[in-house]
Amino acid sequence: MPPQLEATAGAVEQFRKQQGINWTSLIAFTVFHIGAVAALFFFNWRALLVAIVLYWLALSVGIGMGYHRLLTHRSYSVPKLVEYFFAICGTLALEGGPISWVATHRVHHKFSDKQGDPHSPRDGKWWAHLIWMLVGDATHCDVEESARYAPDLVRDPFYVWLTKYHYVPLALVGVALLATGGLPFLLWGLFVRVTAGLHATWLINSATHFWGARRFKTGDDSRNNAMVALVTFGEGWHNNHHAHPTSARHGLAWYEIDMTWINIWLLRQIHVAKSVRVARLEG
Ligand SMILES: [Zn+2]
Ligand SMILES: [Zn+2]
Repeated sequence: MPPQLEATAGAVEQFRKQQGINWTSLIAFTVFHIGAVAALFFFNWRALLVAIVLYWLALSVGIGMGYHRLLTHRSYSVPKLVEYFFAICGTLALEGGPISWVATHRVHHKFSDKQGDPHSPRDGKWWAHLIWMLVGDATHCDVEESARYAPDLVRDPFYVWLTKYHYVPLALVGVALLATGGLPFLLWGLFVRVTAGLHATWLINSATHFWGARRFKTGDDSRNNAMVALVTFGEGWHNNHHAHPTSARHGLAWYEIDMTWINIWLLRQIHVAKSVRVARLEG
């Protein structure tokens, strides 16, 4: 079957499997987008600063260092309590719990841009950016799928608990923001920050699989994209990442700024991060 037909057949098969709208995701994304627009009427500089700090905590510490480079690819190790802290930070991005995130991402690496990839732009750019999460149960991997792709996490009761109640830390942060800085803190620290973080992460699923340079001839469509790397603290060096998935460092050249790698490097310097795997460019 020609590749394009195969991709269409894959998308149809996927849609059949995941029929129906995922109302939880649709309502959550809609509410957060509305809150982000409302925030424009409640701006103050302190609220913006709080939003930037939380954006870094959720996306770089939580998703980049935690969910992705540590829990999914085990590209380095840290003491268990530090690992749990990173995972809690990851929940603040509203990208689901660690088990479903890790299982979905491991499936993505296994089938990158082929039939079975949960979010390939070959099935449509908007599909890869957003729509794949709005149908069926894609963001809440079922128990069987999770056990198959994330058995290491399923064995840990803390991760099972955190995946089930992944919205609790975010809700607590919301209450703390409202108590300390009123509506401006809540709208900027939660709604703008989460919405911006979601789109930044979604760009990795969409843009970095069709827009950017390819240093390595990987079997998928992954690209290196400096703009996406900037807003995701280094995750946009996605072609490097698909070529070397277990490397804790994604920006491999000096000009490929990778803030999350700098965090891990600092933790290695103070002997908190160990067994750090790093890919190097030839020559
Ligand atoms: Zn990818
Ligand atoms: Zn990965």
